[in-house]
Amino acid sequence: MMNTTSFSRFLPGGSHMVNYWVVDRGDELSVQLSARFHAMAERFGMNPDEQNPDIVLSIGGDGTMLHAFHLYKGRLDRTSFVGIHTGRLGFFADWKPDEIERLAQMIRNYPEDANLKIVQYPLVEIGIRTREGTETDLALNEFTLKGVEKMLVAELHINDEKFETFRGDGICISSPSGSTAYNKSLGGSLIHPSLEAIQIAEIASINNRVYRTLGSSIILPKHHHCDIRPQAGQNLLLTLDHLHVQRTDVLSLRLKVAGQKVRFARFRPFPFWTRVREAFIGHGAN
Ligand code: NAP
Ligand code: MN
Repeated sequence: MMNTTSFSRFLPGGSHMVNYWVVDRGDELSVQLSARFHAMAERFGMNPDEQNPDIVLSIGGDGTMLHAFHLYKGRLDRTSFVGIHTGRLGFFADWKPDEIERLAQMIRNYPEDANLKIVQYPLVEIGIRTREGTETDLALNEFTLKGVEKMLVAELHINDEKFETFRGDGICISSPSGSTAYNKSLGGSLIHPSLEAIQIAEIASINNRVYRTLGSSIILPKHHHCDIRPQAGQNLLLTLDHLHVQRTDVLSLRLKVAGQKVRFARFRPFPFWTRVREAFIGHGAN
């Protein structure tokens, strides 16, 4: 039997009508651009679909892309993301506001645009084990674990073998695309997102005769895992990208390279190392 729902998404002549949605930061410029995009999309015959978008346009900063990712993380295999930055150039938002029409014309042809390349970036998978069971979630940038009021005390295990006992402010586990965010401030390395890995970085560890940690950040490949077992009864702060939650019921956490990846729609090449240079070094005399 013919599936009428999916059939109706195809226009006569076989051209596909793209389902899109826009997530904006909420500031005046981003809201304005979002309205402009919707108006252009209507003219182009694109279909606004907040529930099931094929492509999500984020207008704002990298933080806006994090927000968009968490809205649509339940359908990563059917969604691609693209970003316009309304502040400084971002890692996830790499189109300028004055390019919105050009971008709309390319999104209109999604996924058939000749310039389109879908790149897939690895994510961090987090398993939170409590007495009730295990909850899992995904981070685009990073997951962090910190103590609230008191320092964090936790055992770190790698591939089921005890590695070290950590005492300090916290632990940050980032994805390659998140390596340029919090991880970088912690002295972690920048990892190219074509490498399927996660990075564990310390946040102000205490080192003395009782507590000894490696000090360097660690990069784990796919199929390795890291377990963090916080000392019982601690009030913990868990962060997932821009999201925060305080919990006292966590028995252990498992971090690994997620089985799923996030898809970004690249309508033109913008190499990762070029973005790194433009964000952190600039176009100075050197
Ligand atoms: P925010 O306080 O606005 O973010 C901090 C900065 O990180 C912003 O400039 C943001 O860019 C930038 N950023 C986000 N993702 C990035 C990436 N993948 N590579 C390079 N820079 C990135 O809060 P937010 O916008 O909600 O972002 C949450 C993120 O802040 C967290 O995921 C964490 O990585 C980061 N953070 C950093 C520190 C630190 O460096 N000490 C501490 C806490 C959190 P935009 O201005 O374009 O949004
Ligand atoms: Mn931000």
